[in-house]
Amino acid sequence: MKAFYFDYAATTPADPRVAQAMADCLTLEGNFGNPASRSHRYGWQAEQAVEHARRQLADLLNADPREIVWTSGATESNNLALKGVVEQLRLQDAEAPLHIITSAIEHKAVLDPCAWLEKHQGVDVTCLVPDADGLIHPTQVAEALRPDTCLVSLMAVNNELGTITDIEAIGQLLVDHPALLHVDAAQAVGKVDVDVQRWKVDLLSVSAHKFYGPKGVGALYVRREPQVKLAAQMHGGGHERGMRSGTLPTHQLVGIGLAAQLVQEQLSSDKERVSTLRNRLWQGLEAIGGVYLNGHPSQRTANHLNVSFDGVDGEILLASMAKVAVSSGSACNSATVAPSYVLKAIGRSDALAHAGLRFSLGRFTAAEEIDAVVAEVSRIVTLLRG
Ligand SMILES: *Cc1c(COP(=O)(O)O)cnc(C)c1O
Repeated sequence: MKAFYFDYAATTPADPRVAQAMADCLTLEGNFGNPASRSHRYGWQAEQAVEHARRQLADLLNADPREIVWTSGATESNNLALKGVVEQLRLQDAEAPLHIITSAIEHKAVLDPCAWLEKHQGVDVTCLVPDADGLIHPTQVAEALRPDTCLVSLMAVNNELGTITDIEAIGQLLVDHPALLHVDAAQAVGKVDVDVQRWKVDLLSVSAHKFYGPKGVGALYVRREPQVKLAAQMHGGGHERGMRSGTLPTHQLVGIGLAAQLVQEQLSSDKERVSTLRNRLWQGLEAIGGVYLNGHPSQRTANHLNVSFDGVDGEILLASMAKVAVSSGSACNSATVAPSYVLKAIGRSDALAHAGLRFSLGRFTAAEEIDAVVAEVSRIVTLLRG
């Protein structure tokens, strides 16, 4: 039995055009060479493909291609940004007081490196608490800023709630402060306009598999003017201007590059189509009754719907949803049964946090699926409420 896929925030399928372009880079007949091989055309062709991909992603982000550092995904990009900034500063002064501002609803790939830096590099970390709608406000950042703040790390779009942070306002208030701004944009690319110039960010993490590219590849945008200096986390052949060694995977990079170009071409039409479907899903679910929307009703992405159901056990609910692939809380936490820390942070009770379901739609969601999913969820919730 095939389940309806409503978990695009966990990962997206690759666009078929992306998959084809990638396949063309694997075999002897294709563009399989090592981009670092300087002595023959296999290498030159691979390098050309990699640099084309760099420009495609840079164009999407309004960046210079020389500001793109390829990584294995947003987890690595976040680690490189956070540890790279702090270790670079530690090289200059091993004892200086260093302060990072982040939030309680960041992805674990930001929270865990922050906790590591707190423990091993003597960094002081402030975790901003969201309001009941899941928003972190620029005024909170302004109030938390200190003379020793070296980095502000906030996500552009929350992976559980779909809520959008006003990064542009935060970038603006940091203009006169030496602190760097890092943005985890893994959930933002493909859903909102990401513009590193308008946002005035110094570092920005992206992940291909959240926007119809392959898993295992991403990038970190690193501002050139003024130049952000990062201590490398991966040492080796000196690839990516020394910031991230390792042979560049041509097929992965061709994949992320084309995925970025497709986002640029169809973001507005994708957004419009998906928001119509999402609104129809919400209307259908709301009609069941005893349903709560988690996260701000309007300041959120078009593809996202996080809801909690009154009077049902969250785990039984999820276990009954065999025909609909969704997440309870964040997919990254589904190995544990603790209530979602994001839903707890916006003030939901344990019961409602446990009974939260994240529906996320995408490029390949069909209109017919919406009505089928509403009928299925309605049937199960009614059954469980007895
Ligand atoms: C998916 C995700 C990540 C992790 O990205 P990977 O490329 O899978 O490592 C980090 N942050 C956010 C907000 C995400 O949604």
